[in-house]
Amino acid sequence: MIDTGKVRLGIEIPGLDLTLPATAIVGKQGGPRLLVTAGVHGGEYPAIEAAKRLAQELDPADLNGTVTIVHLVTPASFFARRQYVNPQDGKNPNRYFPGDPAGTASERITHRLMSLAREHEAWVDLHGGDIHEALVPFTLVSNAGQPETSRRSLELARAFGLARLVVTATVGGSSYVAAALAGIPAILAEAGGLGQLDAEAVSQLRDGLTRVLVSLGMIAGPPLAERQIRQFNQFAWNRAEASGLWYPEKTAGDAAEAGELVGKITDPYGDLLQEVRAPGSGEILFSVRSLAIESGDPLLAVGS
Ligand SMILES: [Zn+2]
Repeated sequence: MIDTGKVRLGIEIPGLDLTLPATAIVGKQGGPRLLVTAGVHGGEYPAIEAAKRLAQELDPADLNGTVTIVHLVTPASFFARRQYVNPQDGKNPNRYFPGDPAGTASERITHRLMSLAREHEAWVDLHGGDIHEALVPFTLVSNAGQPETSRRSLELARAFGLARLVVTATVGGSSYVAAALAGIPAILAEAGGLGQLDAEAVSQLRDGLTRVLVSLGMIAGPPLAERQIRQFNQFAWNRAEASGLWYPEKTAGDAAEAGELVGKITDPYGDLLQEVRAPGSGEILFSVRSLAIESGDPLLAVGS
C-alpha cells in the first residue's frame, strides 16, 4: 500500500478468473478506514456512479485515514443487465454474506469482501432499486450484532442522512447484517431504481458519502445539520405466489394498510391468480414495476 495518494487496485477473487475494479485513497494523516462498495446488484446504477465520483473527487491531501472503494462487486450482473442475481451462479450475492471461499462465484466474492471489510472500521454498501424496481431512498441498519456495533451503525446511517431508516435484523445473508454480526459498523443505502441513472439519486448517495466522511472526522466540513429521518422498525415483504402478469395498484412512497389490496397477478389470459395485500401498515419502500413476475419474486415491501 502507498503512503499517501490514490491508487487503482484490482481485487482478485481467489478461485475465480475475476478482478474487481477498486480504488484506494490514502490520506496524508492517519485516521479511520472506510470501505465503500457498489454494484453488488449490477443494475443499481446511481450507486455505481456515486462510488465512481467519490473515487474521482476525493483528494488524498484533504483526507485523514483511508477510503477503499470497490466500484463493481458483481461485474457479470452489470454487463448482463441481470436484476438480483449473479449470472455466474444464479445467486443473489446479497443473500450470501459472509460467503464461502470454497463456494460458488457469489459466495467467493462475498467472502473476499468480508475479509476486506474486516480491515476497515466502517462500511457503506451502496444500492438502489434494481432494473425493475422503484423505491424511495432509505438506509438499512442491522441490530443483529453487539449493541456497540448497532450504535455505531446507526450513527453512520444518521450521518448518511437519507430520509428513511429501517432498523432490522431480518434480511439474512445481506452485507450489513453479516457486517453487524462480525462487529463491523455498516449501512446499506438505497436510492434510485428502474434501470435509470437518476441524477437526484446519484447526488443523494454522493452527498451521503461526504456526510459520513465528515462525521468520521476523515474530511473537514461544517458540522452536519440534523436531518428529519423517519425510522421504521419492521420491514415486511410480500412475494408472488404464482408466475404471471403483475398489476401493482400502489407504488413506492404510497401509504398502505395491512391487508389492503395493493395489486394482483393474472395469467396471460387475464384470469386472476393472486390478490396481493399489503404485508404491513406504513409506507411502501420498494415496489416491483415489471409486468412479468415469477413465483417467489418480491413484489413490494412496507416499512412500519
Ligand atoms: Zn441492491
